[in-house]
Amino acid sequence: MTYERAITARAWREVDLEAVAHNAACLQKRMGPGCRLMAVVKADAYGHGAGPVARYLERRGVAAFAVACLAEGISLRRRGVRGLILILGYTPPEGAEELARWRLTQCVADEAHGRALSAAGVPLEAHLALDTGMHRLGIPAEDHEAIARTWALPNLKVTGTFSHLCVSDGASPEEQAFTRTQLDRFYGAVARMAAAGLDPGAVHIQASYGILNLPPQPCAWARAGIALYGVYSREEDRPTVDPLRPALSLRARVAALRTVPAGEGAGYGLAFRAGEDTQLAVVTVGYADGLPRMLAQAGGEILIRGVRCPMAGRMCMDQLLVDVTGVPQTVPGDVVTLIGRDGGAEIRAEEVAARCGTITNELLSRLGARLPILRPLTEFDHALIMEASDQQTLG
Ligand SMILES: *Cc1c(COP(=O)(O)O)cnc(C)c1O
Repeated sequence: MTYERAITARAWREVDLEAVAHNAACLQKRMGPGCRLMAVVKADAYGHGAGPVARYLERRGVAAFAVACLAEGISLRRRGVRGLILILGYTPPEGAEELARWRLTQCVADEAHGRALSAAGVPLEAHLALDTGMHRLGIPAEDHEAIARTWALPNLKVTGTFSHLCVSDGASPEEQAFTRTQLDRFYGAVARMAAAGLDPGAVHIQASYGILNLPPQPCAWARAGIALYGVYSREEDRPTVDPLRPALSLRARVAALRTVPAGEGAGYGLAFRAGEDTQLAVVTVGYADGLPRMLAQAGGEILIRGVRCPMAGRMCMDQLLVDVTGVPQTVPGDVVTLIGRDGGAEIRAEEVAARCGTITNELLSRLGARLPILRPLTEFDHALIMEASDQQTLG
């Protein structure tokens, strides 16, 4: 694929929105007919660029989006997103005016939060969070009285009720049993609300792993984040036949080549020691771009001319060193791949995350500080680029 404006970039993300739309369709297929995809685009769409991702999906029929905070919700509206935007996290009551002005739906974290929002005196749309066992946000699902009191608060119009599964990625019998317990508590609470004449509104409980690992649920929405971007949190979760397509590639360039004689060190702390004469490439990306600093010394690799090459020594803030002795054709300016495909070779986000002892959710959502997002040049994309003067497509 050809990407726009990579020509002058030092290091960049390539985001294939077509892949995101494909993943959305795959997930939608697993959810059953009554349930619709809510695209989770918090943390700048896990590093994929929330504005372009949401707008592209909205054109493809996705009607709901979830973000973490007020500022992310406002940013989506400013970028022209018109569908439901649910703020999954806490917003202080001082934000009530802005919630209303930007037509954002606020999660009610617990009864106290509901009371504080209500007291702000601004009519708001709200989704009640129920705690079914994760003990993060939510009114205890078994506390029907608290749910009823919160539901009835003035200024809060409850248009949805939701919960979050905390071990739906687990395969052990204990984890599966706990997920069933959470589902039972959730549907029990919802049924009790309905029986008491308290309309729960649109209900939702699955996130990515809930969609991937559970049968279709009797819900209005399912909230997909990581799977929407075509990756799994951990490598071992990937099925042998994987219908999802990774949407993000991370690339940089060779700034310079250095021949380091046997016995010489290189980089901070001289942490790299050349056992024999070594050709090092200086690559134009570092930890200030969001890469974990430990990657270089945890066996991190890059692709250059379709070949895997090991990182050398310590990662710097803006650069890193790579041993390209095995690829003597390397020249300054060459494009290197840190995540993604190059020729027949591929480095997946799951692999990078595993080396750094984390999950892809963290790796991807931390990318970006100064990595422009480039997107494939298609006719449709051209239209989007012309229209979106607000997005980060720096060169
Ligand atoms: C982040 C988040 C999601 C999305 O989770 P994924 O595992 O990335 O799909 C869904 N619901 C809530 C409440 C979240 O905080």
